[in-house]
Amino acid sequence: MKEALEELYRQAEAELKAAAGEADLLAVKTKYLGRKGLLTAALRQVSQAPADVRPALGRLANEIKETLAARIEAALQDLAAGSKEAALLEERIDVTLPGRGTSPGRLHPITQTTREICRIFAGFGFSVAEGPEVERDYYNFEALNMPPDHPARDMQDTFYIEEGVVLRTHTSPVQVRTMEKQRPPVRIISPGRVYRPDSDVSHTPMFHQVEGLLVDRGITFGDLKGLLAAFLKQIFGDETVLRFRPSFFPFTEPSAEVDIRCVMCGGKGCRVCGQSGWLEILGSGMVDPAVFENVGYDPEEVTGFAFGLGVERIAMLKYGINDIRLFFENDVRFLEQF
Ligand SMILES: [Zn+2]
Repeated sequence: MKEALEELYRQAEAELKAAAGEADLLAVKTKYLGRKGLLTAALRQVSQAPADVRPALGRLANEIKETLAARIEAALQDLAAGSKEAALLEERIDVTLPGRGTSPGRLHPITQTTREICRIFAGFGFSVAEGPEVERDYYNFEALNMPPDHPARDMQDTFYIEEGVVLRTHTSPVQVRTMEKQRPPVRIISPGRVYRPDSDVSHTPMFHQVEGLLVDRGITFGDLKGLLAAFLKQIFGDETVLRFRPSFFPFTEPSAEVDIRCVMCGGKGCRVCGQSGWLEILGSGMVDPAVFENVGYDPEEVTGFAFGLGVERIAMLKYGINDIRLFFENDVRFLEQF
């Protein structure tokens, strides 16, 4: 019996040594220590051995069982540790690979252009004034010399919120609000979003304007012309050529549209300028006395001029973009070029 137990141990030990992996080890465990295992069976036999040898055999059998169980456990743990180490070696991070990096965010071209315009006018002593985008009809139209039923209202299709309340169609209401609060002199620009129901390659229902207003004693059309020429040369370059064309706006008299010689073709005529060689760039004029009366200024005492331009228009010409809708599609491939 004793020899049989020792033989069983040797046999198990040999099989343990030969075990090549976790599956082999578990198979050995089941074969010897399992419920129907060889050693388990041997232990049962010990209980039937003669009483004088039974205690010694029992000790030996238990010793063998514990040793075997411990060795299998140790072998399993070694294996687990080994495979962990192998995995760590295998999955080691190669720090010499160049990183992927995250692309930095940047300002939207419209924001950049707006800021550039504001920066230039700040250099001329203008400060920024802002106002609500949901505006009362009074400020958007009436105070600007466009009473209800005035035909000039047809020039600007309008989103109505409710009776007497609109999405502002221009930033001119900010001029009225500023003049109501402030005595002359006034020297402001008002950048911001404006809304008109219109959509094609050169119109979006929301777009951005910057308008300017200067009111003081003795301001003339010559001052307006000089300021706009200086501004446009800073935006488009010193060689920029301007022309003023008579026009009509309800809130200025006289009014003028300002064109620059086409920046795409240099005046030869191209698709962008419609073969004319000129690009409309902004509207301007001397503030109509009726507007001054609406805000309590004395038109005998002060004069002033106002002008307005579309930020998208400037950005399109500056960057050579031919579809205004690109600005608002939020395609990163487009936006990251600025
Ligand atoms: Zn052209």
